[in-house]
Amino acid sequence: KQGKRICPGCGAVLQSEDETRPGYVPAQVLAEREEVTCQRCFRITHYNEVMTVRLDAEDFARILERIGQTDALVVKLVDLFDVNGTWIPDLARYTGDNPVLLVGNKVDLLPRQTNWQKVRLWLEQMTRELGLTPTRIELCSGKKGLRLEAVAEAIEELRDGRDVYVVGVTNVGKSTFLNRLLPLYGVDTRRPITTSRFPGTTLDVIEIPLGDGCRLYDTPGIVNAHQISHMVSPQDLKILIPEETLRPRVYQLNDQQTLFFGGLARLDFVRGERQSFVCYVSNRLRIHRTKLVNADALYERHRGGLLSPPRGSDWQHLPPFVRHTFEVPPDPVDIVISGLGWISVRGTGALVDVHVPQGVGVGLRRALI
Ligand code: GDP
Repeated sequence: KQGKRICPGCGAVLQSEDETRPGYVPAQVLAEREEVTCQRCFRITHYNEVMTVRLDAEDFARILERIGQTDALVVKLVDLFDVNGTWIPDLARYTGDNPVLLVGNKVDLLPRQTNWQKVRLWLEQMTRELGLTPTRIELCSGKKGLRLEAVAEAIEELRDGRDVYVVGVTNVGKSTFLNRLLPLYGVDTRRPITTSRFPGTTLDVIEIPLGDGCRLYDTPGIVNAHQISHMVSPQDLKILIPEETLRPRVYQLNDQQTLFFGGLARLDFVRGERQSFVCYVSNRLRIHRTKLVNADALYERHRGGLLSPPRGSDWQHLPPFVRHTFEVPPDPVDIVISGLGWISVRGTGALVDVHVPQGVGVGLRRALI
């Protein structure tokens, strides 16, 4: 039984190597059964779950190109926890004259006292800097079902009888969002969902009829290769991706002190007056404080253990660490470590070094909170 086997649901070539790619079936299932659908189609038909597979940038560009050629509403999801890391670059180039609804998802993660109006303005400004002028911005939480009605209303208003394309990178929360949004929208998610192929790619798109002859297309999630989330194991990812409202952790640091974020990032307060560093990272991620002079030795000794994730010897699979140096401006800023969160710094200027695996995005931005 050597020949290629095809999933009867989506047409992908069945494989057992990579769970994150199309056509995945556990090896055991593949060996035991004659007639198998891939795990994704199996879940869609059996649990009515809309799942996302990863794909590469070229395939995704082809999808975006096609969207640009049709008359449709584009709903773009970003994760408020990682706006830069979940941003789809160049979307504006592809969308043409189509309206874009930008949805800031996972708003439930922001601390309770957060002013949402401020967050919206912040996102608007950020969006402009990143080169997109959305027709509208909405904030919501797919998981907690917050403000989904407003999103549904915005979709109705903006689509104006047209098709809808939903786009977002992996882990942005697109599946959770759609699974909560669609029933609200009058779509019966218990009915089998149709999948079809995007021309010129091996990827399938999920088509959901909207009742008026139009369709909502759930596009596959693009992999943003520089997300820290793709450098760790699925178990470790559960620690990094916050599920609950962020509990800001405040550290009063003197210069020459260091914070470790598990074994994935390190912040050295090199120079400056004693000040507070407010950390917005997953509540489950351990932060360890030490003296800068001891930091290298501590990492050598405790990586994989005290300083984890990554746990065990998984640190060996990380790209080499690189240092990013920042001079903190007088205005309140966040030092963002893409996929991990941010550290809010305000007050007098300081010199800070951030060490992260090569490829992980690090930068300064106007403070969110
Ligand atoms: P997808 O890859 O874009 O389809 O993302 P998923 O829907 O699978 O979600 C990715 C991760 O984010 C999961 O751990 C979800 O539990 C979490 N998540 C999704 N939506 C939300 C949300 O609105 N709030 C919070 N806090 N977490 C969310």
